[in-house]
Amino acid sequence: MKKNVLILFFILFSYSIFAIDVKNVEPAFWWAGMKNTELQVLLYGDNIVKSEVSITAKSTKIKEVVKLENANYILLYLDLSGATPEKFDIILQEGKQKKVIPYEIKERKQGSSQRVGFNASDVLYLIMPDRFANGDPSNDAIPGMRESKVDRNGQYTRHGGDFKGVSDHLDYIHDLGVTAIWFNPVLENDMKEGSYHGYASTDYYKVDRRFGTNQEFVDLVDKVHTKGMKVVMDMIFNHCGSEHYFFTDRPSRDWFNFPDKYVQTSYKTMSQFDPHASNFDKKLSADGWFVETMPDLNQRNPHVAKYLIQNSIWWIEYSGIDGIRQDTHPYADYDMMAQWCKEVTEEYPDFNIVGETWLNNNVGVAFWQKDSKLAHPKNSYLRSVMDFPLTDIMNSAFDQETTDWGQGFSRIHEYLAQDIVYANTMELLIFLDNHDTSRFYKKEEDTSNLNRYKQALAFLLTTRGIPQIYYGTEILMAADKSEGDGYLRRDFPGGWAGDKVNAFEAKDRTPNQNEAFDYTRKLLNWRKGNEVIAKGTLKQFVPYNGVYAYERKYNNRSVVVILSGSDSEKTISLERYKEILPKSQAKDIISGNTISLGETLTISPRKVLILEF
Ligand code: CA
Repeated sequence: MKKNVLILFFILFSYSIFAIDVKNVEPAFWWAGMKNTELQVLLYGDNIVKSEVSITAKSTKIKEVVKLENANYILLYLDLSGATPEKFDIILQEGKQKKVIPYEIKERKQGSSQRVGFNASDVLYLIMPDRFANGDPSNDAIPGMRESKVDRNGQYTRHGGDFKGVSDHLDYIHDLGVTAIWFNPVLENDMKEGSYHGYASTDYYKVDRRFGTNQEFVDLVDKVHTKGMKVVMDMIFNHCGSEHYFFTDRPSRDWFNFPDKYVQTSYKTMSQFDPHASNFDKKLSADGWFVETMPDLNQRNPHVAKYLIQNSIWWIEYSGIDGIRQDTHPYADYDMMAQWCKEVTEEYPDFNIVGETWLNNNVGVAFWQKDSKLAHPKNSYLRSVMDFPLTDIMNSAFDQETTDWGQGFSRIHEYLAQDIVYANTMELLIFLDNHDTSRFYKKEEDTSNLNRYKQALAFLLTTRGIPQIYYGTEILMAADKSEGDGYLRRDFPGGWAGDKVNAFEAKDRTPNQNEAFDYTRKLLNWRKGNEVIAKGTLKQFVPYNGVYAYERKYNNRSVVVILSGSDSEKTISLERYKEILPKSQAKDIISGNTISLGETLTISPRKVLILEF
């Protein structure tokens, strides 16, 4: 009896030692008919490296089995050049132990490659999912996750917002008149703290369960599409969270940059284009880690590059998104990121990606845009870049008295004159603020100045580029970065059950908030489908007598915007503007009034006219 128990124990013991345990299979499935026919399947499990790998597929073939330094990883490269949709097994075998992993090469959705990405006909509405609305309190805290409580009073704690919250307010967003939603990262961030912002991914193939499930995300994208809007997904290739298994159990020494000890990036990404840059600075800016909890992935490792590129394509194909916003784009390897943009464009020719190119000047931003002369003969293949310098200028131009020499709109005019550095100005993402900057109004008391708001929105929505509006701008939410990043990401009032104020509804908004909201809604809905704004040329005049004027023109239609940059009333001669004034009167789309365009025009202080011809 004792002997039998011992034998049984030995059998169970050896089984537990030798049983093949596969924790992760990434991606879990793929599709037939993609342009790139090489698929990397990453297998992760205790000591799986000793296993022989085979597949039972008919049309899918094994190209290569790569074993890394770490015995817990196998990279299976499959050849899909002859693949048709099929289900098969991936089999890991070691002696008598066998692990069977069901796998599928799916059929692509009809028209998947033909989707149209976001462009200048769109206006993006940026949402931080944890802070917009809590539609499902049951997912606020997930037992077993490292940060497992909500605290709405904390700047850096989780507040409980989720996909259901966004889904519940899609009518509000659609009615406002934006045409796309950019979500701050939604992938799992199982970090001990600060997980709410989402920039420390711990799983590249799963959304954070505190936002919902993968299926709920797909359903949300579908629902946004049924309202005629697009979805832009935030992705981060530069780094992952330090709790990602890539970092806690590194596949190989060269999976990360600076593998021996934490070295912080200099954040001086101009070293990537500086013709005089030292090798030291080039390396430090791109290979240094963003922060200690975000280890820097080595995109020069071809397996890492393949993993990341495939991951983005998986999300496009799986969830149906229309665009990607790539975090810290200039901090990642230039050549790999270029290859990524190229591969995405090969699969989806009209898809769009915007890179977070946070540089303080247009030369730096322009360098990263597709077809930039500044980067020649290299090419980033990145269609859209972020116009951070314009954001800076806009945040003071509407306050200053415009002079002929340098202040107010003269700075905007001068900056736009330098558009000569950009390969494509219509693909620039333009914005007054985002989740990382002070809001357009830093202080609550300043929001009473609605002229500033109206001029800024009018300019943002009629100049060149793709406008982005940060959630809450329409209700005059104010925040100063010096008070902390969490403050820039406050909850949208009314997004939580029991909120005293529900700013999703007009009756709960202040008169000023309603004036801002109605104005924004009017402009956005006028802009929607307007080809003059989406495709038209831009012609601007040197500001004169405190007034700035420009024309957008497409075919025989035009829009003329006249902005007063002065605190006093101005009367201007229209003689100088005759090349953009084809008629003696035009309708101002803001007031609805017909404006007579005789010899002179008198403009009240800080007024804006949007004239349609
Ligand atoms: Ca929730």
